[in-house]
Amino acid sequence: MNIQLTNFFTDQLPADPNLENTRREVLEAVYSFVRPIKTSNPTLLHVSDEMQHTLDFSNEDIQSREFLEFVTGNSVLKNSKPFAMCYAGHQFGNWAGQLGDGRAINLGEIKDWAVQLKGSGPTPYSRTADGLAVLRSSVREYLCSEAMHHLGVPSTRALSLSLTGDKVLRDVMYNGNPAHEKGAIVSRVAKSFLRFGNFEIFSSRNDIKNLKILTDYTIKSHFSHLGKPSKEVYLQFFQEVSSKTLEMIIHWQRVGFVHGVMNTDNMSILGLTIDYGPYGWLEGFDFGWTPNTTDKQHKRYRYGNQPTIGLWNLYQLANALYPLIEEAAPLEKILEGYKSNFEKKSQDMMRAKLGLTSDKETDINIIQSLENNLQATETDMTIFFRTLSSFKKEQPEKGVELIQDAFYTLDTIKGNVLNNWKQWFADYAKRLEDETTSAEERQQQMNKVNPKYVLRNYMAQLAIDKADKEDTSLLEEMYLLLKEPYSEQPKLEHWFAKRPEWARHKVGCSMLSCSS
Ligand code: AMP
Ligand code: MG
Repeated sequence: MNIQLTNFFTDQLPADPNLENTRREVLEAVYSFVRPIKTSNPTLLHVSDEMQHTLDFSNEDIQSREFLEFVTGNSVLKNSKPFAMCYAGHQFGNWAGQLGDGRAINLGEIKDWAVQLKGSGPTPYSRTADGLAVLRSSVREYLCSEAMHHLGVPSTRALSLSLTGDKVLRDVMYNGNPAHEKGAIVSRVAKSFLRFGNFEIFSSRNDIKNLKILTDYTIKSHFSHLGKPSKEVYLQFFQEVSSKTLEMIIHWQRVGFVHGVMNTDNMSILGLTIDYGPYGWLEGFDFGWTPNTTDKQHKRYRYGNQPTIGLWNLYQLANALYPLIEEAAPLEKILEGYKSNFEKKSQDMMRAKLGLTSDKETDINIIQSLENNLQATETDMTIFFRTLSSFKKEQPEKGVELIQDAFYTLDTIKGNVLNNWKQWFADYAKRLEDETTSAEERQQQMNKVNPKYVLRNYMAQLAIDKADKEDTSLLEEMYLLLKEPYSEQPKLEHWFAKRPEWARHKVGCSMLSCSS
């Protein structure tokens, strides 16, 4: 196996001169060198064939001991200089100061893709935690980041999932019941792992020199079409980050993904979905839903609030970049643009979900009344939209029957609820009269934006429970299923189903803690 690893990031950006792996405040540096710890008995559970090929690993490579040692950090390539990044962040709306890669160790780049190991031991940024990751959170990150990519949602990727052979102590529900769990490592891959927080840390310390070094590096490496850095280019850079962030969040809304911890340290500068923690998928459509138990009280990161939080986070990034621009008005204009683009793009997204290709002013009404109906009783988002593509405008009276599998309890579909649905289908049928596309074309188009299969919370949990018993069959099944989320997969049709009742209140299936 011949891995061609580069060190563009570390070669071009200032390093922390302290080489000791002690927890500390790190000043005037983008990262600290640190080595992954050795694991006692690593085993490979899964490899993403797509990332394998993207990074040019052969089938023999991934079966080799060398590959296993590489993706678990047991051996570090001769020219690799592993490091952890220094960043800060706003967590749940409050400034949290220095955070950094507390359990992610970067190895360098392969073919322009940055590779990092999540769960491979402490770093100078581990604060009071252990630098490790458990199997359950690693399966969730591994499956979901690949699934998101196949759904067409910008995301960091995953190359491999491994067990370390070591035990990790976690108190899953933070209720004083710690227990040992299996340790695991995901090797993650992205064009860049830089976050809003990487920029925030320098401006918070008034370290404009390093803020500029990092911003110039980011533009040169990832936004090179913008040209040589200047005030104008910094603004264009911010505009692009803003657009990419919005685009990502509109995709989340489209597929029903709730990130759960949209802190600024979890916002990628490339607009990638990053840091899969207590995320969840909407089952019943509900703007107020958050999967994160830590967020239960204020629901800051609830489904319906994600676009607003994206904007809030961009304000923090604007503040961080301000010293390079020194003018508030053009930054504010970009942020205003986010607001109006959000309105427009989310309407366009909903139109596409409804199979509407033309643009009518009154569409907003049909969208809003649909959202009201979906929330009136528990209605499965994925099943509803997928099934809707079979609706026939000639038979509006059959609408409710068509989508009835999406209702969690059928006996609530009566009275006003039923009347509102009937009215909605009548309005929708009428609206479809204005469309020129055939029913067949519409169905095809709708099925490209309304996934049939998503990683429902209980599905991930089932895969975890099996993997914990050394059975990776379900992990493999989910991986394959979610590679083609928009396709009919008759053999796996049983995953096109509502969340079973046993999963409604089960830990890991409905609410998730940050423990990982
Ligand atoms: P998160 O909320 O998971 O994005 O994490 C917030 C911060 O805590 C980041 O700086 C993480 O690197 C760090 N962190 C989370 N879990 C651990 C852990 N087990 N050990 C060390 N640092 C951690
Ligand atoms: Mg994070």
